[in-house]
Amino acid sequence: MSYPELKMLISGEWTDGSSGKSEPVLCPADGSTIGTLPHAGPADLDMALQSSLEGFNIWRKKTPHERQMVLEKAARRLDDSFESISANLTREMGKPIGEARIELRVAIDLLRWYAEEGKRVYGRIIPSRFPNMQHEARKLPVGPVVAFVAWNFPAVNVMRKVAGALAAGCSITIKPSEETPATAIAIGKSLTDAGLPAGVLNIVFGVPAEVSEHLLSSTIPRKLSFTGSVPVGIHLQKLAAKNMMRCTMELGGHSPVMVFDDCDIETAAKLCTAGKFRNAGQVCISPTRFFVQENIYDKFLKLFKEHVEGMRVGNGLDEQMSMGPLVAERRIDIMDGFVSDAVSKGAELLVGGEAIQSEGSFFAPTLLQEVPDTAKIMTEEPFGPIAPTARFTSLDEVIERANSLQFGLAAYAFTGSAKTAGVLKQEIETGMLAINSLHVHSVETPFGGLKFSGYGYEGGIEGLEVFLATRYSSETYG
Ligand code: NAD
Repeated sequence: MSYPELKMLISGEWTDGSSGKSEPVLCPADGSTIGTLPHAGPADLDMALQSSLEGFNIWRKKTPHERQMVLEKAARRLDDSFESISANLTREMGKPIGEARIELRVAIDLLRWYAEEGKRVYGRIIPSRFPNMQHEARKLPVGPVVAFVAWNFPAVNVMRKVAGALAAGCSITIKPSEETPATAIAIGKSLTDAGLPAGVLNIVFGVPAEVSEHLLSSTIPRKLSFTGSVPVGIHLQKLAAKNMMRCTMELGGHSPVMVFDDCDIETAAKLCTAGKFRNAGQVCISPTRFFVQENIYDKFLKLFKEHVEGMRVGNGLDEQMSMGPLVAERRIDIMDGFVSDAVSKGAELLVGGEAIQSEGSFFAPTLLQEVPDTAKIMTEEPFGPIAPTARFTSLDEVIERANSLQFGLAAYAFTGSAKTAGVLKQEIETGMLAINSLHVHSVETPFGGLKFSGYGYEGGIEGLEVFLATRYSSETYG
């Protein structure tokens, strides 16, 4: 189960490209170099673009059943290598092996679900107001797609784009994160082994800004799909606008959790701990602002603290660990900054608050209490293992505070009141809301944000729709 040799996939060939450039891939659990990743040069990117056009013209003509058979075969290949892909995902990204397995299982489910759903891309017949005329609205693949994704879910972030595009009949050129390439390569290998025609999927790596500028300056791609931070999303959207590309933007979040005094506190504290520290908090839908109703605040914090203190942090390959390292050392200073800023503004540090001294990039699970809304961690996405908590008094007040940021990805609430739940479903300004759990993601449900968290969806029929265009045609007869 060793870390694989890293290559790019261009025009159906696994290649080092022609730039002669590369970068090391590091294991965040110990800082060691585990691989060398080749970079694409301009000629490689041009070849990828040209082949994605040729691949599109082959793939769009396949029937949905033919496409489903290739994708199903790829899903079986991933099943066959499930343990080794999961272990390499942990090696390159750091998350505990149990989480890596769940992620890969979800990614394979996504592939199967999209492959089946691709058979149900229906158009419609529209009754005509004119005699002897028929109107038809038909769904067609939008064209070659270009995608860029973040490192935090090396399998799911890639698969959401690849499976959606391929099931819709599009070709796709993707630049996964340079920090987590092996998982994306394993997904690509499963598809090429399953008989995906050359050019339908290209996988490239390089200097992100250079790769995106090159790919988006071409008129070949008809769609951009991005998963990452808000500033990079805005930048890429501007580049895509020059060539009138459609966009899907899956961007950052800062999810409020509203814990009301009529909820099951024990369950809420347990679920909040598991949700907050999943993937060391490096999750776009991670719960990041804990608003707890004032009369249960102390009790909730006591339970939360006990759970956090019971966590085990270490190398994700050790099955006993509940949290792994941050993806890279660069994230540690950012966490330090959030903690010291909050404490300087009056917050109290209950647990953690500092890096764990070791060769890897570990930061202790951290719990802060009485955090003012003006602290940086309450307004900037933490993307790390820090739980800031604050009190609230009334429903109206907590809704206002939850909606006060420009982020609008996910929100959570724990309450026993149907009335409170009803008001939240109407008033909370996020694309996703979970009540009495932290569950906002299934392969068959729409995943996406509002406001600065982006637009467009992945998952559910909405996730296929974003790769389709509508062609209207009329036919006169008789
Ligand atoms: P980032 O935007 O800096 O990087 C994300 C990815 O884009 C990386 O792979 C990076 O290599 C690439 N990238 C960076 N600059 C680029 C450029 N100019 N052109 C092309 N690609 C470029 O974000 P990050 O901090 O590495 O990742 C975390 C962010 O991603 C968080 O904000 C998180 O919330 C967000 N995210 C969102 C979702 C979602 O579905 N909404 C899912 C996962 C992560």
